[in-house]
Amino acid sequence: MSHRAYVEVDLAAIAHNVSTIKASTDAKILAVVKADAYGHGIVPVAQTALSSGATWLGVALLEEAITLRKAGISDPIISWLTPPGDDFVAALRHDIDLSVSSVGLLHEIVEAGKSLGVKPRIHIEVDTGMRRGGLLQEWNLFLSELLAQKDLCHVVGLWTHFARADEPDSSATLEQEKVFESYLSDMTSAGITPEIIHLSNSAATLNFPSAHKNMVRLGISMYGLSPDVSTMGSSSKYQLKPAMTLKGKLSLIKKAAAGSAVGYGGTAILESDTHLGIVVLGYSDGIPRNANNQAGVWINGNRAPIVGRVSMDQFVVNLGATTTAKAGDYVTVFGAEGYSIDEWASACSTINYEIVTRIASRVERIYVN
Ligand SMILES: *Cc1c(COP(=O)(O)O)cnc(C)c1O
Repeated sequence: MSHRAYVEVDLAAIAHNVSTIKASTDAKILAVVKADAYGHGIVPVAQTALSSGATWLGVALLEEAITLRKAGISDPIISWLTPPGDDFVAALRHDIDLSVSSVGLLHEIVEAGKSLGVKPRIHIEVDTGMRRGGLLQEWNLFLSELLAQKDLCHVVGLWTHFARADEPDSSATLEQEKVFESYLSDMTSAGITPEIIHLSNSAATLNFPSAHKNMVRLGISMYGLSPDVSTMGSSSKYQLKPAMTLKGKLSLIKKAAAGSAVGYGGTAILESDTHLGIVVLGYSDGIPRNANNQAGVWINGNRAPIVGRVSMDQFVVNLGATTTAKAGDYVTVFGAEGYSIDEWASACSTINYEIVTRIASRVERIYVN
């Protein structure tokens, strides 16, 4: 192959992960495909999720939703991060459900609906404890405004987001669920009954069945990764299969002597004579610059740890005193064999979400299965 590096996405793994979770719940499945499907590629992942049991798609940004529509996808899509001034007319033309978490936004969306003569489909987000998105102090005012606009919009959903669902032993999630119930009863008492109530991300879906309600929003678990390895264990515990493998070519192999200082700042000193391999991927491709030697690559059945700092377009690995590797060979940076995404995350002091999401668009995606 001629690619210097590529991401291989196993669509069968995505399909397996969706159907595995679908089999464990009565709730509808919303596949979260924001951030280019966590770096896996928004359109192929959305199509795979829909053909394996998901019936809804969720994205953060409006432009992500429009990308899905332009690819011919007609299933329901929610966009939940639309700041004031977004192009709501375009959103409604594309039949995209919008999340609303302020009175101001409700008015903007209703105005856009009036200009087109359509009723916007909205999902109301309430803040049940995370103190990020969602209605909080405006709730009562919002309800009365909503009642006043009742005929001008279609309230499809009421939803919230959990802050600590990846802690199976914490009471925080159940407390948020309780706060949610009180928002729901305020709404139904006011005569508005949302068809869909959705609270659960992957962690809540795996840890808190009571919070499934009638739809769950699957992100990281659909990509075959655990929401938190330290509190929940790795994804294999849940029969989930990681879908992403990152590969890159060795551009050069060289012998270097014990005592050599490798890379910018000379931060790594070789302990013995060895072969160094230069991998054509760097921090501009999304390899974190702070990756330490607990991460590395897999080549011909062996682990080759990182040596020194990651550069913009390349990093160096230690292939050992004897090696069968050749310049031009592909190494597996992370994936099914060798280093896992979770090991890379730990070596970079981050989480698996960030490792997959930050792989740059200049690294081509290739789909298998
Ligand atoms: C990203 C996101 C999710 C998915 O979270 P995971 O932990 O990846 O499952 C669900 N809901 C909302 C609102 C999100 O922003």
